[in-house]
Amino acid sequence: MRIHHLNCGTCCPVGGRAFDGRTDGLFGALVCHCLLIETDAGLVLVDTGFGTKDVEHPDRRLSRFFLGLNNPQLRSEETAIAQVRILGHDPRDVRHIVVTHLDFDHAGGLEDFPNATVHVTAREKEVADQRQGGAFVGDKRYRPQQWNGVDDWRLYPLGGGDRWFGFDTVRSLEGLPPEILLVPLPGHTWGHTGVAVREDGGKWLLYAADAYFYRGEIGGEHYACTPGLRGYQRLMQVDAASRLTNLERLRQLQLEHGEEVRIFCAHDVVEYELLAGRSYKASPSRAQLSA
Ligand SMILES: [Zn+2]
Repeated sequence: MRIHHLNCGTCCPVGGRAFDGRTDGLFGALVCHCLLIETDAGLVLVDTGFGTKDVEHPDRRLSRFFLGLNNPQLRSEETAIAQVRILGHDPRDVRHIVVTHLDFDHAGGLEDFPNATVHVTAREKEVADQRQGGAFVGDKRYRPQQWNGVDDWRLYPLGGGDRWFGFDTVRSLEGLPPEILLVPLPGHTWGHTGVAVREDGGKWLLYAADAYFYRGEIGGEHYACTPGLRGYQRLMQVDAASRLTNLERLRQLQLEHGEEVRIFCAHDVVEYELLAGRSYKASPSRAQLSA
Protein backbone atom coordinates (compact mmCIF):
# COMPACT_ATOMS: atom_id res chain seq x y z
CA MET A 1 0.00 0.00 0.00
CA ARG A 2 1.37 3.35 -0.96
CA ILE A 3 0.47 6.16 1.44
CA HIS A 4 0.41 9.82 0.40
CA HIS A 5 0.20 12.64 2.93
CA LEU A 6 -1.89 15.54 1.61
CA ASN A 7 -2.70 18.96 3.03
CA CYS A 8 -6.32 19.50 1.96
CA GLY A 9 -6.79 22.95 3.47
CA THR A 10 -4.58 25.56 5.08
CA CYS A 11 -6.01 27.71 7.87
CA CYS A 12 -4.25 30.91 8.92
CA PRO A 13 -5.72 32.08 12.25
CA VAL A 14 -4.73 35.44 13.66
CA GLY A 15 -2.18 34.76 16.39
CA GLY A 16 0.79 33.35 14.47
CA ARG A 17 3.10 31.53 16.85
CA ALA A 18 0.42 31.50 19.56
CA PHE A 19 -1.34 28.96 17.34
CA ASP A 20 1.26 27.02 15.38
CA GLY A 21 4.27 27.51 17.66
CA ARG A 22 6.61 28.61 14.89
CA THR A 23 5.40 31.47 12.69
CA ASP A 24 6.74 35.02 13.06
CA GLY A 25 3.97 37.34 11.99
CA LEU A 26 0.28 37.80 12.45
CA PHE A 27 -1.11 34.66 10.81
CA GLY A 28 -0.36 31.11 11.88
CA ALA A 29 -0.53 28.07 9.62
CA LEU A 30 -2.55 24.95 10.33
CA VAL A 31 -3.02 22.13 7.84
CA CYS A 32 -5.81 19.65 7.16
CA HIS A 33 -3.68 16.50 7.08
CA CYS A 34 -5.35 13.79 4.97
CA LEU A 35 -4.12 10.45 3.66
CA LEU A 36 -4.55 8.95 0.22
CA ILE A 37 -3.82 5.22 0.26
CA GLU A 38 -3.40 3.06 -2.83
CA THR A 39 -4.84 -0.36 -1.99
CA ASP A 40 -6.08 -3.46 -3.84
CA ALA A 41 -9.59 -2.22 -3.00
CA GLY A 42 -8.97 1.03 -4.89
CA LEU A 43 -7.98 4.41 -3.57
CA VAL A 44 -8.84 5.13 0.05
CA LEU A 45 -9.01 8.66 1.37
CA VAL A 46 -8.75 9.34 5.10
CA ASP A 47 -10.52 12.64 5.84
CA THR A 48 -11.18 15.13 3.07
CA GLY A 49 -10.39 18.65 4.32
CA PHE A 50 -12.23 21.34 2.37
CA GLY A 51 -13.91 20.46 -0.92
CA THR A 52 -14.59 22.23 -4.21
CA LYS A 53 -17.98 23.51 -3.06
CA ASP A 54 -16.42 25.02 0.08
CA VAL A 55 -13.92 26.82 -2.14
CA GLU A 56 -16.63 28.05 -4.52
CA HIS A 57 -19.29 29.03 -1.97
CA PRO A 58 -17.65 29.46 1.44
CA ASP A 59 -20.42 31.71 2.77
CA ARG A 60 -23.09 29.16 1.95
CA ARG A 61 -21.17 26.09 3.04
CA LEU A 62 -19.24 27.22 6.12
CA SER A 63 -20.15 29.25 9.18
CA ARG A 64 -19.19 32.88 9.37
CA PHE A 65 -17.82 32.22 12.85
CA PHE A 66 -15.28 29.61 11.70
CA LEU A 67 -14.44 31.49 8.50
CA GLY A 68 -13.38 34.35 10.78
CA LEU A 69 -11.68 32.34 13.52
CA ASN A 70 -9.83 29.77 11.39
CA ASN A 71 -9.32 31.94 8.31
CA PRO A 72 -9.22 29.01 5.84
CA GLN A 73 -7.44 29.86 2.60
CA LEU A 74 -9.77 27.73 0.43
CA ARG A 75 -7.52 27.12 -2.57
CA SER A 76 -8.90 24.79 -5.21
CA GLU A 77 -5.43 23.27 -5.70
CA GLU A 78 -5.45 22.11 -2.08
CA THR A 79 -8.68 20.12 -2.38
CA ALA A 80 -8.30 16.35 -2.25
CA ILE A 81 -9.85 15.96 -5.70
CA ALA A 82 -7.26 18.30 -7.25
CA GLN A 83 -4.42 16.41 -5.59
CA VAL A 84 -5.80 13.02 -6.58
CA ARG A 85 -5.69 14.26 -10.18
CA ILE A 86 -2.16 15.66 -9.77
CA LEU A 87 -1.06 12.21 -8.61
CA GLY A 88 -2.37 10.85 -11.91
CA HIS A 89 -5.54 9.19 -10.63
CA ASP A 90 -9.15 9.45 -11.68
CA PRO A 91 -11.29 10.76 -8.76
CA ARG A 92 -13.76 7.97 -9.59
CA ASP A 93 -11.10 5.51 -8.42
CA VAL A 94 -11.50 6.79 -4.85
CA ARG A 95 -13.71 3.92 -3.64
CA HIS A 96 -13.61 4.49 0.09
CA ILE A 97 -13.41 7.47 2.41
CA VAL A 98 -12.79 7.00 6.11
CA VAL A 99 -13.84 10.15 7.90
CA THR A 100 -12.70 10.60 11.52
CA HIS A 101 -15.59 12.91 12.33
CA LEU A 102 -17.91 15.22 10.40
CA ASP A 103 -16.52 18.66 11.32
CA PHE A 104 -16.51 21.18 8.48
CA ASP A 105 -12.73 20.94 8.00
CA HIS A 106 -12.79 17.13 7.60
CA ALA A 107 -15.98 16.44 5.65
CA GLY A 108 -15.88 19.21 3.02
CA GLY A 109 -14.59 17.01 0.21
CA LEU A 110 -17.00 14.07 0.63
CA GLU A 111 -19.23 15.12 -2.25
CA ASP A 112 -16.27 15.40 -4.63
CA PHE A 113 -16.11 11.58 -4.67
CA PRO A 114 -19.59 10.26 -5.50
CA ASN A 115 -18.27 6.73 -6.14
CA ALA A 116 -16.92 6.35 -2.62
CA THR A 117 -18.34 4.41 0.29
CA VAL A 118 -18.05 6.63 3.38
CA HIS A 119 -17.02 5.00 6.66
CA VAL A 120 -17.70 6.76 9.98
CA THR A 121 -18.98 5.87 13.44
CA ALA A 122 -22.76 5.63 13.78
CA ARG A 123 -22.59 7.97 16.76
CA GLU A 124 -20.83 10.65 14.75
CA LYS A 125 -23.36 10.48 11.92
CA GLU A 126 -26.21 10.68 14.41
CA VAL A 127 -24.92 13.68 16.37
CA ALA A 128 -23.81 15.48 13.21
CA ASP A 129 -27.26 15.07 11.64
CA GLN A 130 -28.73 16.52 14.84
CA ARG A 131 -25.93 19.09 15.07
CA GLN A 132 -25.17 18.09 18.64
CA GLY A 133 -21.63 19.29 18.83
CA GLY A 134 -21.83 21.69 21.72
CA ALA A 135 -24.34 24.41 22.53
CA PHE A 136 -22.44 27.22 20.85
CA VAL A 137 -20.57 25.46 18.03
CA GLY A 138 -22.99 22.61 17.24
CA ASP A 139 -24.69 24.21 14.26
CA LYS A 140 -21.49 25.93 13.14
CA ARG A 141 -19.12 22.94 13.10
CA TYR A 142 -21.57 20.51 11.47
CA ARG A 143 -22.62 21.51 7.95
CA PRO A 144 -25.06 18.89 6.64
CA GLN A 145 -24.81 20.30 3.11
CA GLN A 146 -21.28 18.81 3.08
CA TRP A 147 -22.57 15.24 3.38
CA ASN A 148 -26.24 15.29 2.35
CA GLY A 149 -25.26 14.02 -1.11
CA VAL A 150 -23.56 10.89 0.25
CA ASP A 151 -25.73 7.81 -0.15
CA ASP A 152 -23.37 4.95 0.60
CA TRP A 153 -22.53 5.00 4.31
CA ARG A 154 -20.94 2.32 6.46
CA LEU A 155 -21.60 3.06 10.12
CA TYR A 156 -19.67 1.49 13.01
CA PRO A 157 -20.34 1.23 16.74
CA LEU A 158 -17.96 2.98 19.15
CA GLY A 159 -17.85 0.06 21.58
CA GLY A 160 -16.84 -3.57 21.19
CA GLY A 161 -14.22 -4.38 18.60
CA ASP A 162 -10.69 -5.77 18.87
CA ARG A 163 -7.53 -5.02 20.80
CA TRP A 164 -4.67 -3.11 19.23
CA PHE A 165 -1.68 -1.88 21.29
CA GLY A 166 -3.81 -1.48 24.42
CA PHE A 167 -6.75 0.10 22.62
CA ASP A 168 -9.66 -2.30 22.93
CA THR A 169 -12.41 -1.01 20.63
CA VAL A 170 -10.59 -1.06 17.32
CA ARG A 171 -12.42 -2.17 14.17
CA SER A 172 -11.55 -3.30 10.69
CA LEU A 173 -13.55 -1.65 7.92
CA GLU A 174 -15.93 -3.30 5.49
CA GLY A 175 -14.32 -3.90 2.11
CA LEU A 176 -10.95 -2.50 3.21
CA PRO A 177 -7.70 -4.38 3.88
CA PRO A 178 -6.92 -5.32 7.52
CA GLU A 179 -4.03 -2.84 7.46
CA ILE A 180 -6.54 0.02 7.85
CA LEU A 181 -8.32 0.21 11.22
CA LEU A 182 -10.77 2.51 12.96
CA VAL A 183 -9.54 3.56 16.43
CA PRO A 184 -12.31 5.31 18.42
CA LEU A 185 -11.06 8.42 20.27
CA PRO A 186 -14.18 10.33 21.40
CA GLY A 187 -14.07 13.64 23.24
CA HIS A 188 -13.48 16.23 20.50
CA THR A 189 -16.84 15.07 19.13
CA TRP A 190 -19.09 12.27 20.42
CA GLY A 191 -18.18 9.90 17.60
CA HIS A 192 -14.60 10.98 16.85
CA THR A 193 -12.08 8.28 15.82
CA GLY A 194 -8.50 7.91 14.72
CA VAL A 195 -7.37 5.70 11.84
CA ALA A 196 -4.43 3.28 11.99
CA VAL A 197 -2.65 2.30 8.77
CA ARG A 198 0.11 -0.28 8.52
CA GLU A 199 2.93 0.66 6.20
CA ASP A 200 4.59 -1.93 3.98
CA GLY A 201 7.60 -2.19 6.31
CA GLY A 202 5.31 -3.26 9.16
CA LYS A 203 5.28 0.00 11.10
CA TRP A 204 1.93 1.56 11.96
CA LEU A 205 0.81 5.11 11.41
CA LEU A 206 -1.89 6.33 13.78
CA TYR A 207 -3.72 9.35 12.47
CA ALA A 208 -5.26 10.72 15.67
CA ALA A 209 -7.17 13.48 13.81
CA ASP A 210 -8.41 16.02 16.38
CA ALA A 211 -7.72 13.93 19.51
CA TYR A 212 -4.94 16.48 20.01
CA PHE A 213 -3.84 19.56 18.06
CA TYR A 214 -0.21 20.34 18.78
CA ARG A 215 2.94 18.24 18.34
CA GLY A 216 4.10 19.07 21.89
CA GLU A 217 1.10 17.29 23.39
CA ILE A 218 2.56 13.90 22.46
CA GLY A 219 6.02 12.49 22.95
CA GLY A 220 7.74 15.38 24.68
CA GLU A 221 9.54 15.29 28.00
CA HIS A 222 7.32 18.15 29.06
CA TYR A 223 3.99 18.19 27.31
CA ALA A 224 3.04 21.55 25.86
CA CYS A 225 0.37 23.19 23.76
CA THR A 226 0.17 26.71 22.35
CA PRO A 227 -2.41 28.99 24.01
CA GLY A 228 -4.36 29.40 20.76
CA LEU A 229 -4.75 25.67 20.20
CA ARG A 230 -5.44 25.02 23.88
CA GLY A 231 -8.35 27.45 23.65
CA TYR A 232 -9.53 25.97 20.36
CA GLN A 233 -9.53 22.42 21.74
CA ARG A 234 -11.63 23.52 24.70
CA LEU A 235 -14.05 25.38 22.47
CA MET A 236 -14.52 22.30 20.26
CA GLN A 237 -14.60 19.46 22.81
CA VAL A 238 -17.93 17.89 23.71
CA ASP A 239 -16.58 15.71 26.52
CA ALA A 240 -13.44 16.96 28.29
CA ALA A 241 -13.01 13.82 30.41
CA SER A 242 -13.04 11.49 27.39
CA ARG A 243 -10.76 13.76 25.42
CA LEU A 244 -8.18 13.90 28.22
CA THR A 245 -8.42 10.14 28.82
CA ASN A 246 -7.74 9.51 25.15
CA LEU A 247 -4.88 12.01 25.11
CA GLU A 248 -3.34 10.10 28.02
CA ARG A 249 -3.75 6.80 26.13
CA LEU A 250 -2.01 8.29 23.10
CA ARG A 251 0.87 9.52 25.28
CA GLN A 252 1.17 6.04 26.79
CA LEU A 253 1.13 4.48 23.32
CA GLN A 254 3.90 6.84 22.24
CA LEU A 255 6.00 6.00 25.32
CA GLU A 256 5.53 2.24 25.10
CA HIS A 257 5.31 1.63 21.36
CA GLY A 258 6.81 4.73 19.77
CA GLU A 259 9.14 2.50 17.72
CA GLU A 260 6.22 0.60 16.21
CA VAL A 261 3.55 3.30 15.92
CA ARG A 262 3.98 6.81 14.54
CA ILE A 263 1.24 9.08 15.92
CA PHE A 264 0.20 12.34 14.28
CA CYS A 265 -2.79 14.67 14.34
CA ALA A 266 -4.81 16.53 11.71
CA HIS A 267 -3.72 20.12 12.02
CA ASP A 268 -0.10 20.35 13.18
CA VAL A 269 2.03 21.78 10.38
CA VAL A 270 5.37 20.36 11.63
CA GLU A 271 4.06 16.80 11.96
CA TYR A 272 2.64 17.13 8.47
CA GLU A 273 5.86 18.39 6.90
CA LEU A 274 7.94 15.62 8.51
CA LEU A 275 5.62 12.90 7.23
CA ALA A 276 4.94 14.42 3.81
CA GLY A 277 8.58 15.31 3.29
CA ARG A 278 7.70 18.70 1.84
CA SER A 279 6.39 22.13 2.81
CA TYR A 280 2.69 22.35 3.60
CA LYS A 281 2.48 24.76 0.66
CA ALA A 282 3.86 22.31 -1.90
CA SER A 283 1.68 20.06 -4.03
CA PRO A 284 2.53 16.36 -4.07
CA SER A 285 3.60 16.39 -7.73
CA ARG A 286 6.86 18.18 -7.12
CA ALA A 287 7.91 15.65 -4.50
CA GLN A 288 6.86 12.78 -6.75
CA LEU A 289 9.00 14.03 -9.60
CA SER A 290 12.08 14.40 -7.43
CA ALA A 291 11.52 11.08 -5.62
ZN1 LIG B 1 -10.32 19.51 12.63
